[in-house]
Amino acid sequence: MAAPYSSPLAAGLAEDLLERFLRYVRVDTQSARDRERSPSTPGQLELSRMLVGELESIGLADAELDEHGYVYATLPATVAADAPVIGLIAHVDTSPDAPGGRVQPIVHRGYDGGTVRLPRAATVLDPADMPVLGSKAGHDVVTSSGDTLLGADDKAGVAEIMAAVAHLAAHPELPRPTLRIGFTPDEEVGEGATLFDVERFGAACAYTLDGSQPGELQDETFSGVQVTITIDGVDVHTGWATGKLVNAARLAARVLAALPADTLTPETTSDREGFVHPFEVRASAGRAVVRMNVRDFDDELLERHVALVRRTAEAVVGAEPRAKLGFDVQPQYPNMRRHLEQFPEVVARAERALRAEGIEPVRVPIRGGTDGSLLSARGLPTPNLFTGGHEYHSVREWASLQDMASAAAVIVHLAEAWAAP
Ligand SMILES: [Zn+2]
Repeated sequence: MAAPYSSPLAAGLAEDLLERFLRYVRVDTQSARDRERSPSTPGQLELSRMLVGELESIGLADAELDEHGYVYATLPATVAADAPVIGLIAHVDTSPDAPGGRVQPIVHRGYDGGTVRLPRAATVLDPADMPVLGSKAGHDVVTSSGDTLLGADDKAGVAEIMAAVAHLAAHPELPRPTLRIGFTPDEEVGEGATLFDVERFGAACAYTLDGSQPGELQDETFSGVQVTITIDGVDVHTGWATGKLVNAARLAARVLAALPADTLTPETTSDREGFVHPFEVRASAGRAVVRMNVRDFDDELLERHVALVRRTAEAVVGAEPRAKLGFDVQPQYPNMRRHLEQFPEVVARAERALRAEGIEPVRVPIRGGTDGSLLSARGLPTPNLFTGGHEYHSVREWASLQDMASAAAVIVHLAEAWAAP
């Protein structure tokens, strides 16, 4: 059965795209939390240097790696200069939530639609648990060997941009505005956009390629904050503790137990509902630190969730006058919608590009953030497009070559959609 490409253009881009993708995923670019420098890990620089070299050999002479580990490059326009400059962005790092070193990708040519058993760690991809995988019979499916993530998040996006840009550079007869390419580090640890040089990038708008299913066009993300609760107890040798010890670890456990468990958690909510997600507890008798992600699409509701956490912590810790409570709220990213609404053309032209590839746009809000959340707030409107990758941040991560090729083809159409006013 012939592999179902969405167009001859996608079919023509596929092999270059796959070659790049397989090369990029082999570089260990896992990012690290609580970073002390940018990028957080040296592997990211290795891939970024590789990308600069490849951009140069495609003909993007100004390709550069800046002091924070961001790659920037320009593909000049083939149409009159009044077309706006358009950005294409993907992140080079992979998630710290699953093993990410020594990725050995496997290409399952002409996937039969059944269960995929990977050679390591007894990892199984079962279409019964992953209906989207089951729908890709006939595709060339790429997986890891089972003991690492694949890194399609977001090397699929990186490879798609590279393949599309190589194609456009080799075809100056195709209409395109000036394209700016940006590859970012440390997206997975929430720092992808923080040191992004919006001025130097100089684009009117941009697109991240960091979604999943074909058609996804995301112009709405969660707003996110991180709450850190610090509880100081009174630590006394247990032999002399009578009437003196105040156990911070027990107080932290009580705060967590007092938070709603049947609602307002990631595991009990969906669609447009927000949540409170404690993801790290470090506790001793003397001191406990609890970190939580708080999310909602609606900023007012987000504030209410934070207020609930605060009231709960104050009630529990306040009942023990010898304990001390610290409460810190750090903004992480804002919902991009209110920033994108002012520039309807950004989404409209992406819809045009998707339809030019025969793909119907699917507008779903992202239950998370992207580089585009912060970039949009910083004045660079940046919605998100699909990449063809799935089951991110796990050893079951997989990607369809046919869908990745569709994404690369959509980039080529996007250039055309912005070439005319
Ligand atoms: Zn990503």
